[in-house]
Amino acid sequence: MEHQGRHALVTGGGTGIGRAIALALAKAGAEVTITGRNGAALAAVAAEGPRLHPLEMDVTDEAAVRRGIAAAAAARGPIAICIANAGIAEGKPFAKLTLADWRRTMETNLDGVFLTLQAALATLPKDGWGRMIAVSSIAGVRGLQGAVQYSASKHGVIGLIRALSEEYMGGPVTFNALCPGYVDTPIVTRNAAAIAAHTGRTPEEATQLLAKANRHRRLLEVDEIAGAALWLCSEAARSVNGQTIQIAGGQVS
Ligand code: NDP
Repeated sequence: MEHQGRHALVTGGGTGIGRAIALALAKAGAEVTITGRNGAALAAVAAEGPRLHPLEMDVTDEAAVRRGIAAAAAARGPIAICIANAGIAEGKPFAKLTLADWRRTMETNLDGVFLTLQAALATLPKDGWGRMIAVSSIAGVRGLQGAVQYSASKHGVIGLIRALSEEYMGGPVTFNALCPGYVDTPIVTRNAAAIAAHTGRTPEEATQLLAKANRHRRLLEVDEIAGAALWLCSEAARSVNGQTIQIAGGQVS
């Protein structure tokens, strides 16, 4: 119960990696606000325990983020732990990428993390303990073919985290990025379906293709990412700051 009495916020907490982190934080005693656009998914996770609190909030909507996070803080206290996890993964060959494609990804994956972290930090007292974590990707540390906008957005998230760790240096808040390889979540299911549709492979073959892209040639499971997040939130990790934690079965960069 290391986090009893603390308020945590997890964007994209209704599914996949965010859901796993939210459940782990609640198990560790935190009151956890879970956000997303899909109210039904959030309600289903909230039904799993009394410390999980759903909040419909689109991370691309500045007013909604500022209003939503302020309301959550008013209800449950300052956001001591913030997991900026909401993201989308779309791919296209660079030559076919439109500005609208580019902006859609940046709005969610980069603007969304900026807005979330800024609004969460605004709830903390100046000397308040905090753990700010963004879910980047291996695409934040190396470029992924066919995913220019995704790679750029996830590199941007790491730049944001590193700069914040410098700006808040010496205080009780740390800033880190998690960089998973391919994880068994709805994003990978959707991407495997898209690959299957474009290549004539079966969805199972397409999933295997993604699994083999991980260094240990299997898909990660969400508890592996949640475990790293919980460690970053622990007292033991109090001097881990401005880091990119690769969880990909081996070295990526
Ligand atoms: P999911 O699709 O399950 O999770 C994405 C979450 O983001 C959803 O809960 C979704 O909620 C939320 N989301 C997306 N857009 C918005 C938005 N505009 N406003 C609010 N919430 C939004 O996949 P994952 O769990 O895999 O993805 C979580 C994060 O992990 C993402 O940032 C992804 O890039 C990253 N990641 C995933 C990897 C993987 O292989 N799975 C590998 C590396 C990184 P809702 O639909 O309710 O809005």
